[in-house]
Parts: sequence; C-alpha cells; structure tokens
Amino acid sequence: MTVRVAVNGYGTIGKRVADAVAAQQDMVLVGVSKTRPNYEADRAVAKGYKLFIAGEGKKSEFDAAGIATAGTVPEMLQQADVVVDAAPEKIGRENLKLYDAANIRAIFQGGEKAAIAEASFNALGNYPRSKGKRRVRVVSCNTTGLSRAASVLTSRWGVESWEATIVRRAADPAESGRGPINGIMPTFTLPSHHGPDVQTIFPDLSIATTAVVVPTTLMHVHVNHVRLKTAPPGAQAVVEAFRETPRFHVFSAWEHVDGTPQVMEFAKDRARGGSDMMEGVLWENGIRVDGRELYFFQAIHQESIVVPENVDAIRAMFDLAPDARTSIAITDRALGIGH
Ligand code: NAD
Repeated sequence: MTVRVAVNGYGTIGKRVADAVAAQQDMVLVGVSKTRPNYEADRAVAKGYKLFIAGEGKKSEFDAAGIATAGTVPEMLQQADVVVDAAPEKIGRENLKLYDAANIRAIFQGGEKAAIAEASFNALGNYPRSKGKRRVRVVSCNTTGLSRAASVLTSRWGVESWEATIVRRAADPAESGRGPINGIMPTFTLPSHHGPDVQTIFPDLSIATTAVVVPTTLMHVHVNHVRLKTAPPGAQAVVEAFRETPRFHVFSAWEHVDGTPQVMEFAKDRARGGSDMMEGVLWENGIRVDGRELYFFQAIHQESIVVPENVDAIRAMFDLAPDARTSIAITDRALGIGH
C-alpha cells in the first residue's frame, strides 16, 4: 500500500516533513500548502511539489510572484489519505474543521493540545497506540526528546522519579522577531507543561519539569536528574543503552563537541537533511551514575527532531509496518539517520 500524504503548512516543520515523506517508498507526497508566496513556496515548486493555497491566501498573489499553484487546501485534501498539519500553534485546531469536512485522517503537531487527537505519538515510546487511529498528535520537540530517553530508561532500570530543567532556545533561526536577545527568562509555570506532556506517552512516569528561555536559536538542552528503580552497573552501561537505541547520537569526549554550536557544526559537516540533527544528542562525559541516581544532558534540535516521528506516525496509523523498530529502521534508512 502507498499512502497519499498532504502537508498543510509549509514552514519550519512542514517543509522538513514534506521532504521526509517524499523520501519514503511506501508514501507519496500529494502536495504542500502556503498561505502566501515566499522563498519557501518557490522552493516547494522547484522541488516538484504541488503547491496549494492555504487559509486566506489569494491565487492572484501567487500568480503575481510567478509561483504556480494547483488549487486550494480542500482540493489537496481530496487527493490524500492523510494530512500532516504543520500550521502554527493553535491553527491546527481551526484546520480540524477542514479535515472533518473532507473526512480525512490527520496528524497534528505538539503546538496543539493533546485532546485534539485520539493518541499522542512517539515512535520509541508508544507506536502501537496509534494503529488504525484517525487523529494523532506528534508531541513537541522537547517531549519527543524526553520520551525517547524515557523509553531507554524505563525498559532497562525503571524510573522512580525524574526532574528535568529545559533550557529552551528563544526562537528558531529564521524567527528574527522573537527574543530575548539578552537575558535568561524563567518560565513561571511550575512545574512546566512538559512533564504532563510526556505523560501523554508514558502515563505512569513520575516526571517534573521546569524551563528557562535563553538567547540562542540552535538547540534546546535538557538537564536531567533521574532516580532509577535499580542501579545500572555504571555510567558506561547507560552510554551503551543510548548508543544501541535508534535516534540517539552520543558524542565521545575525544570529539571535543563542547556544546550545541559544535553539534550543529557536526550536522552541517555531515550534510544530510540540510543541516538537521534528528537524533537526541547526548555527551558521554555528560552522563554520570551514582548508585540509582542518573544525571545526563540531552540536546534537542527543535527544527527537526519530530520529523521522523511524523513519518512513523503515518506508518502506525495505516499499519504499514509490524512494529516500531521496523518503521524506525525504514524511516531512518530513507533519511540517512543512523549510527
Ligand atoms: P512555522 O511558523 O515555521 O510554519 C507554519 C506554516 O504554516 C507557515 O508557513 C505559515 O504560513 C503556515 N500557515 C499559517 N496559517 C495556516 C493555515 N491556516 N493553514 C495552513 N498553513 C498555515 O511553524 P512551525 O515552527 O513549523 O510549527 C508548526 C507546528 O509544529 C506547531 O504546532 C509547533 O508548535 C510545532 N513544532 C514546532 C517546532 C519548532 O521548534 N519550530 C518543534 C516541534 C513542533
């Protein structure tokens, strides 16, 4: 079976999901949408993607820019089996009416509330729960990173309690209008919403999170303190557990990747998927075990970590693979994610 996929909203996440879908053998990209012409709309057409007009967008504006369009979003939906909604936060909720009218399955992103979907999704965490579902939400970038790590730790040593401080990037690189450009801004919701969001994947996990926003655009960094139920034999066992799990990249000390600037430089040098880092990033010398106490850092490339998850969510909904590991392997091979 080949699943026909539409991507509604062609921004930071949508353009990456479109490329990822187009790279899969069991999926075909029927089109993407933009509300107005810009350089991204131009790139979509240059890549051979059919471009549809979203929201209040006007065909005359696209015509004036010389950018060919193939119709409107409702017309795009008629050609698809599933739509990946990658519109800005809370717009997905509005778009749901279109999807109901078109009687089409839909995937939403982490900017939408969990209640929008029948299941929240993380490939390593709870792949089977989305089998056959019509509405699925791929959790946010931070929740994806925490959920991937939870899948490693809960299955091996069990988690008694987990505290994570999320050091959040202020904006994506292209978002020149956001800040702060100087300052460290506490998030005064205590604990932050990320813990309950992880519990949409791992309902029984005891996790509490706090967050601060810092002036960087590259990545988020999580500072984790986990009390495990049983003590790992040592830090090296934890390093190996993350190394042998797909969708993690663990840097060794000799690589001198001192922080997020070097992680993103590594991604550019590796030059796959543009300059994306779809793995959760750990540092070998940033993992410490003291009995049942585990401390580790994880860096999250917010622009791309959810991209393979969207592909796996489609596979889960349409039962295209027998299990999570098979889907992850297919996705990762197509996207060049690996060890
Ligand atoms: P974005 O602003 O970069 O892109 C959204 C795109 O949707 C834009 O091109 C916009 O023009 C378009 N759009 C606006 N109104 C629309 C409508 N009515 N219909 C269709 N398209 C419309 O946003 P983003 O960062 O890609 O975020 C998309 C979703 O992904 C949000 O839910 C967000 O919370 C989530 N998310 C974002 C990140 C991140 O760091 N950027 C990470 C994980 C998840």
